[in-house]
Amino acid sequence: MAAITMRNIVKRYGDGFHAVDNVSLDIADGEFIILVGPSGCGKSTLLRMIVGLEDITSGDMIIGDTRVNKKAPRDRNLAMVFQNYALYPHLTVFENIAFPLRLRKAPEEEIREQVNNAASLLQLTEHLERRPANLSGGQRQRVAMGRAIVRKADAFLFDEPLSNLDAKLRGQMRTEIARMQRRLGTTTVYVTHDQTEAMTLGDRIAVLRKGVLQQVGTAHQLYEEP
Ligand code: ADP
Ligand code: ADP
Repeated sequence: MAAITMRNIVKRYGDGFHAVDNVSLDIADGEFIILVGPSGCGKSTLLRMIVGLEDITSGDMIIGDTRVNKKAPRDRNLAMVFQNYALYPHLTVFENIAFPLRLRKAPEEEIREQVNNAASLLQLTEHLERRPANLSGGQRQRVAMGRAIVRKADAFLFDEPLSNLDAKLRGQMRTEIARMQRRLGTTTVYVTHDQTEAMTLGDRIAVLRKGVLQQVGTAHQLYEEP
């Protein structure tokens, strides 16, 4: 687990446009924070700078005790879950979840234990031998989450993970993500443009507009107080 600290983060694209404009935000160790705002407000850019897929123009990004301003995902042990899942179609659910463990040549016994634990947490035990083509959208999403869990990442980053699902599945997956985060206690940054997700999922909500952080607070503070 890791705290994430952003100090005056700016992202300027080639034409001088500021996609992220002087954002400062402290995310506590184990906190579940939602980044919400309309399309184009800079949510994905901010997430990509946290995960190390994008250089920071100025400011400081600190993850745990480490300053990580350069684009370099290998510097940090973070797990990103995308809306399009990025599963391997030729591999079973078991092997899709096991993939990061195989990459670091973990012993077979550990792989079995970790994958089974993640599958049980995500209600995938019955489906371990199936392939992604034979799964529902919600099940595929859970496989992608399983892969993030077995990596024992310091933080989870979600980029609109539910936007390809229908309304009923979205509701189920919201419950599941909240349960998983509570069980594991892993620091989570979750990007969405969906107000319901923002209000029901996280500990706190950060509202972005045109690259500027406008408000940070609990759902109660942001939406219910006069
Ligand atoms: P969001 O995730 O909130 O929809 P993005 O972070 O994707 O917003 O984009 C923020 C702004 O930065 C948008 O105006 C977008 O067009 C612009 N942008 C994103 N990526 C690039 C890029 N590689 N080059 C230039 N502009 C970009
Ligand atoms: P999102 O759903 O995250 O808002 P977008 O459709 O805005 O995604 O962007 C998809 C990809 O295109 C991103 O990698 C982003 O960096 C890039 N992009 C977005 N806007 C621009 C832009 N104006 N110029 C160049 N690349 C862009």
